[in-house]
Amino acid sequence: MSSSTNPTSSAYKAAVAKLGLEQNIAKALEIPDRELTVEVPFRRDSGDMDSVIGFRVQHNNTRGPFKGGIRYHEHVDIDEVRSLATLMTWKTSLLDIPYGGGKGGIGVNPLNFSKTELERMSRRFFRAIDPIIGVNVDIPAPDVNTNAQVMSWFMDEYSQVHGYSPAIVTGKPLELGGSEGREAATGRGTAVITREASEKWGIDLKDCKVVIQGFGNVGSYAAKFLHEYGCKIIAVSDVSGGLHDKDGLDIPSLFDYNRRNRTIKGFEQGKNITNEQLLALNCDFLIPAALGSAINDSNVQSLNCKVIIEAANGPVTGDAANKLWDKRIAIIPDILTNAGGVTVSYFEWVQNLQQFKWSEDEVNQKLDKKMIQAFEEVYSIKKDQGVPMRIASFMAAIDRVQSAYKLREG
Ligand code: NAD
Repeated sequence: MSSSTNPTSSAYKAAVAKLGLEQNIAKALEIPDRELTVEVPFRRDSGDMDSVIGFRVQHNNTRGPFKGGIRYHEHVDIDEVRSLATLMTWKTSLLDIPYGGGKGGIGVNPLNFSKTELERMSRRFFRAIDPIIGVNVDIPAPDVNTNAQVMSWFMDEYSQVHGYSPAIVTGKPLELGGSEGREAATGRGTAVITREASEKWGIDLKDCKVVIQGFGNVGSYAAKFLHEYGCKIIAVSDVSGGLHDKDGLDIPSLFDYNRRNRTIKGFEQGKNITNEQLLALNCDFLIPAALGSAINDSNVQSLNCKVIIEAANGPVTGDAANKLWDKRIAIIPDILTNAGGVTVSYFEWVQNLQQFKWSEDEVNQKLDKKMIQAFEEVYSIKKDQGVPMRIASFMAAIDRVQSAYKLREG
């Protein structure tokens, strides 16, 4: 469980205390509404039956249907899924989209399965969680190691029982009702948030120095858009290591190279550096877009940036965040920075319900507006209350859930 998303984390507790949250509501928000553990039997290609364990946790639906991804990973267990479901409640609330929070997963390494085995396993999992999901109840999405193909199987499985239901999952292929702009949405949102932060922190976006850890979906698109804004991306990395050029990397070429090769390794420009060296580079914005807990007690003192933009989920541990506060390095938190993905997932659902398709421009404009609104709200709480952006984000998110909760309780 990442420290920033854990309901017992110090930032969460500080936000609850600042808001003066009533004890009964605080208690209700710490307990997930529902947790389902399922056995998923499926046939291997050999003809033998096998079974894996799956989960769906529905944390809170006070503001709307549960919403959150389904991941396939060996580390998936009920604690991790619960923590991520909780995070989704705060993320959807912070962005003021009419959803609650949920998450699911299967504890497997998908590399150990053929495509046909994955399909059978995915379909059986979706059937197993069928009793608790629905287009107005709980809407899953892709997460680590699941993708548009897995969403297509989910959607097909559900539609066979309930009739054609594209709105049951988001992150689908365009041909099955996916939204324009979804693939780039989280990176785009990250770039928008960085742009907004540059104004508030008095950093000139043109030629400012940006370092990005992780060059997957989020990191590569964030680099692309920030490069278009005129930033100098002086270093990026992936699991194979990093590349550094103090004059700025050629991001359009690197983006294409990474698309073709699925790694930045071997790209012709830049000096090879390690991920640890990358984190210590002098820069304006450091954007961790790979792993949870990437910035922790062991490396926090070496950081040399002005602002950290948390594009990954929980990339800065709670202890490290406290030290960064002392070092006057600001953190723009994950629930704000990487909310572009769930926002466009919401747009996809809305389009599916209306059986209507928006243009990419329309999606991007609506996304930018949502991200800016959320940033402004958090920044004004930070200023008014004298708290870090992380606590201010929780305050905005918890407060909106609390208001809805009180109105519904009567
Ligand atoms: P991805 O799998 O597309 O990319 C991950 C990147 O991180 C890859 O470049 C990989 O090589 C790199 N990486 C892995 N281990 C590393 C290591 N030890 N050191 C340095 N780099 C390493 O994943 P993604 O979709 O870009 O997601 C990145 C992060 O953003 C995750 O924390 C994810 O939970 C979070 N996130 C993603 C989305 C989304 O829409 N994709 C939305 C919200 C949050």
